[in-house]
Amino acid sequence: MIQFDNSYLRDLPGSYLRQAPDVAPAPEVVVLNTALAADLGLQIDDAAGWFSGAVVPPGADPAALAYAGHQFGGYSPTLGDGRAHLLGEFLGPDGRRWDLQLKGSGRTAFSRGGDGKAALGPMLREYLISEAMAAFGIPTTRSLAVVMTGEKVRREAGALPGAVVARIAASHIRVGTFQYFAKRGEMDKLKRLLDYTIARHYPGAIGALGLFDAVVAAQARLIAQWMGVGFIHGVMNTDNMALSGETIDYGPCAFMEHYAPGTVFSSIDRQGRYAFANQPLILGWNLARLAEALLPFFDSDESKAVDLANARLEAIAAIYRTEWLAVMRNKLGLHGVDPGDGALADDFLSAIQGVDWTLAFRRLAGVFSDEGAFLALFEDRAAIIAWLPRWRARVATDAKAAMLAANPAVIPRNHLVEAALEAANAGDIAPFQALLTQVQHPFAPELGREAFTLPAPIGFGRYVTYC
Ligand code: AMP
Ligand code: MG
Ligand code: MG
Repeated sequence: MIQFDNSYLRDLPGSYLRQAPDVAPAPEVVVLNTALAADLGLQIDDAAGWFSGAVVPPGADPAALAYAGHQFGGYSPTLGDGRAHLLGEFLGPDGRRWDLQLKGSGRTAFSRGGDGKAALGPMLREYLISEAMAAFGIPTTRSLAVVMTGEKVRREAGALPGAVVARIAASHIRVGTFQYFAKRGEMDKLKRLLDYTIARHYPGAIGALGLFDAVVAAQARLIAQWMGVGFIHGVMNTDNMALSGETIDYGPCAFMEHYAPGTVFSSIDRQGRYAFANQPLILGWNLARLAEALLPFFDSDESKAVDLANARLEAIAAIYRTEWLAVMRNKLGLHGVDPGDGALADDFLSAIQGVDWTLAFRRLAGVFSDEGAFLALFEDRAAIIAWLPRWRARVATDAKAAMLAANPAVIPRNHLVEAALEAANAGDIAPFQALLTQVQHPFAPELGREAFTLPAPIGFGRYVTYC
């Protein structure tokens, strides 16, 4: 039994369509997050039925939510949940409200040409990467289960096993949700959405300006944390940016290995719009779209509203930089604040160009006892040799433990993710489970799990991800 309390449906009529998930012919649980279920106080009576969509849990009220979004810069007025169903909301033991959503659960009124389905590989990828993000301490939706439906789905790669991911989110309110009503001129619904979002996520925020400031703060912190672990979302469209400040909609996302600011993995990101180093710029771009949608509520005088918005948009780069510097201080073992920290962090990044991002930080923590292992990462050592004395002069001599707790040994390495998903497609879930266990303990010592800590072998080649 789950005690549902479906506030979105109750409070925001006209913002969704009630839609039934498809009934999976032969649901089979592939992975179930029993630890998360326990943390959330969920009693799961029928994982295969509930999380495939075959059985609607008592009290659930399945719906597809309406939203719009800028996709790669172009506006799509009607996106919405084309292959997802919000089952409902429940309150956790601490009183926090959570969405329970299925993805891959069948066509809805928003499906356009899509089949409403999902393949096993991408749903397992979402499960794995979102668990990794949670273990890093980065705000994210969580995965409760992946269930195979017993159907095949047709994709470019051929007929693949179909699956549904059940996920938990603080909400599914997106920048694109606000855009949907603003661009349609549905001001009553926009106002209701505004009030609802404030009450649900930022109850201390006063009005649209207060909400906007809170979202800027949460999203700036989020993207700074992504940049810390080398995460590349891959589709930072405005429909994939949550007002809650959680990472949502894991598609062609992947982690950068060797540091190159222009790194892109997604096959559809041909211009590099969502490249690693562009993510902070897209943060500002997406928030500008949110400001446009909220503009009428910033001030009744339009030119005043525009001035208020512009002042805020101009501040985003500095807010982000402050968050990023906090992340970098943590990673570099720097206590307190020194005016030279920005240059120290920037120059470290310059020095590690081409070096494995994760290992560079992790082994820097070891420099106190083993400088050789760190320096072995570098082909050209001139820049890092020049940088190390500056860092030594600034870092606390006892920073090692804190740095090991701030810099993961294990990330979901691309070659391991691919191998795990390929095995799962062929019916063997063991490699996925093994990798999942490792990424759930990212900061633990390398000893005994070295294979999970190393970059892809040279022969792995350039990595490309698909939605
Ligand atoms: P995404 O790229 O996953 O953020 O999705 C963008 C939009 O496309 C959303 O409106 C999705 O619901 C929709 N979409 C993605 N895949 C499918 C599919 N297989 N069937 C129907 N709609 C889909
Ligand atoms: Mg349906
Ligand atoms: Mg999406």
